Amino acid sequence: MVMVCVPAAAWAERVAIDGVRVWPAPDNTRVVFDVSAPVEYKVERLVNPDRLVLDFTNATLAKTVEQPVATDTIMKSIRHANRDGGVLRVVLDLKQRTEYKAFLLKPNEEYGHRLVFDLFGREQQAQQARLDQLVQQAQARPADPAAKSQSAQTAGPAVKAVTPQVRPRPIVIAIDAGHGGEDPGARGYSGIYEKDIVLAIARRLQAMVDREPGMKSVMTRDGDYYLSLRKRTLKARDSRADLFVSIHADAFRDRSVRGSSLYVLSQNGATNEAARWLAEKENASDLIGGVSLDDKDNLLASVLLDLSQTATLQASFEAGDAVLRNMQPVSTLHKHQVQQAGFVVLKSPDIPSILVETAFISNPQDEKKLRSPEHQEQVAGAIFGGIKDYFSKHPPAGTQIAAVNRRHTISPGETLSALAAQYRVSIERLRAANRLKNDRIRVGQVLTIPGDNEG
Ligand SMILES: [Zn+2]
Repeated sequence: MVMVCVPAAAWAERVAIDGVRVWPAPDNTRVVFDVSAPVEYKVERLVNPDRLVLDFTNATLAKTVEQPVATDTIMKSIRHANRDGGVLRVVLDLKQRTEYKAFLLKPNEEYGHRLVFDLFGREQQAQQARLDQLVQQAQARPADPAAKSQSAQTAGPAVKAVTPQVRPRPIVIAIDAGHGGEDPGARGYSGIYEKDIVLAIARRLQAMVDREPGMKSVMTRDGDYYLSLRKRTLKARDSRADLFVSIHADAFRDRSVRGSSLYVLSQNGATNEAARWLAEKENASDLIGGVSLDDKDNLLASVLLDLSQTATLQASFEAGDAVLRNMQPVSTLHKHQVQQAGFVVLKSPDIPSILVETAFISNPQDEKKLRSPEHQEQVAGAIFGGIKDYFSKHPPAGTQIAAVNRRHTISPGETLSALAAQYRVSIERLRAANRLKNDRIRVGQVLTIPGDNEG
């Protein structure tokens, strides 16, 4: 039996539990009790059948409790009863043997004091172990993005001969819908939540990516639950993502501010005041949604932060610029250049990462647009267009898109050597593929960009 004491008011007025919420997520099931004040409780774990028994001292449960959904893999049902001496007993009936972690969350804009139980089933425990392993790997052998991009640049026929058996893989796009669960994100003018809008846009983007030959998507969250910022980056890393795209729609204190902006990581200060303000709000997500209290996240944070990210940042800028140019026709741009700010979620050392602020949900016109399915589709389409543009120019070596020939129409000012660098092919292969006798090219000329599999 575990006894947990939290300072309660000395005069011991009854603590009211005003509500219970259950958030099933792939990583855990979270049970949240809204409490009128910090509360004293003890926990007992029982088997046959598996259940957690919570005894709250001097507490009452006001409302009927909403039952967990049938698809929840951990929670079966919740029961409660008032016992002698003002003890409130709550029983969480479980579908399997479960580990738990309990902690208190402080009030925020949306909720008051909360007591949180994160429940982990067998599968989730295995998943956690795998994430721990990834953290250790990241520490032992930090990815070196500079070395990676250099080898890609020199990858010519000589390198190709070394690895001819490897089958080309699809390009993986990690799509990150901001916020979720206990963290609703910004609240719109008419009360709509950022977490719902961005998930809707993320799902549209997911469908587009998965329809595209040579690409596939991974969603960091695919439902209404909280996911820590570190877990989001870890999931992208775990699925070996080629690009991480975080989607948001934030609020600003000035309701007249509107339009889209595009962010990449800055480690030394934000581009402007609004950027700093936004980054602070986004990074507070873990405080609002409830961060896990173990030290794993901190360990990973130090691993990720210490690495050199120059090559990754350059790629992030290029991908961000491509997305921003595609956003222009569908959305007012708040800023016409890619912005930089210290968003925690963009700190993967070896995955180019961008954050799209689709609009300001605090602006009445922006919010109205964001709620329309047509506009959501347009925004997703613009992000997708940018992703496609970026990867047609910079397909990672070994991918299906890099394997095939592409076409390029010459614009004013372009040179053959610049094109070779841009597409990471040797100038000799570029000449050979286009039967060029010298390096002269003319505007409007269509060149073949040889893929990995072509001579
Ligand atoms: Zn946000």
